[in-house]
Amino acid sequence: MRNPVRPSCLAEAVWTIDLDALLGRGIRGLILDLDNTVVDWNQGWVRPQVRGWLEAARERGLGLCLVSNALRGERVRRVARDLGMKAVVRAGKPLPRAFRLGMAALGTHPASTCAIGDQVFTDIVGASWLGLTTILVFPLSPRESPHTRLIRLIERPLRRRWAKRGRRQGASRCAGAAREGG
Ligand SMILES: [Mg+2]
Repeated sequence: MRNPVRPSCLAEAVWTIDLDALLGRGIRGLILDLDNTVVDWNQGWVRPQVRGWLEAARERGLGLCLVSNALRGERVRRVARDLGMKAVVRAGKPLPRAFRLGMAALGTHPASTCAIGDQVFTDIVGASWLGLTTILVFPLSPRESPHTRLIRLIERPLRRRWAKRGRRQGASRCAGAAREGG
């Protein structure tokens, strides 16, 4: 079994992820984290690059679902409505149930779903455990909760190791401009 902590690949930000490469791998639905992945932490506005990339994903027929642990479910639903996405609120990631609910909303299964987020121990572990493709992005903004900042202390050396290994292995398998491919 693959290491559930290690993502399938790393990407700089969602808009650097190669959608056609994902489609080529059989991916039909994307489960996206909200804070610091789709919007800056605890915000409701969406960067134009993120919006454009999500529109391109929809045009290619990919299903889109926000799966967020954010406490204010109304903010999650508002962003999802704005972007035409489905939403699972107070999801309880990294529990596999959170990702199962996302897949149920999308009508996809693990082999056809990719989970994307900025936190290894929240967004990646549970999804990997179920066999989804996983992409770890860098947080959109340096602002985040004190709790997350603590977890970054464990996460940072892992990211560095994966990036180094990725460079040795050549191009990333699922992202166009992934840092690990540089
Ligand atoms: Mg996040």
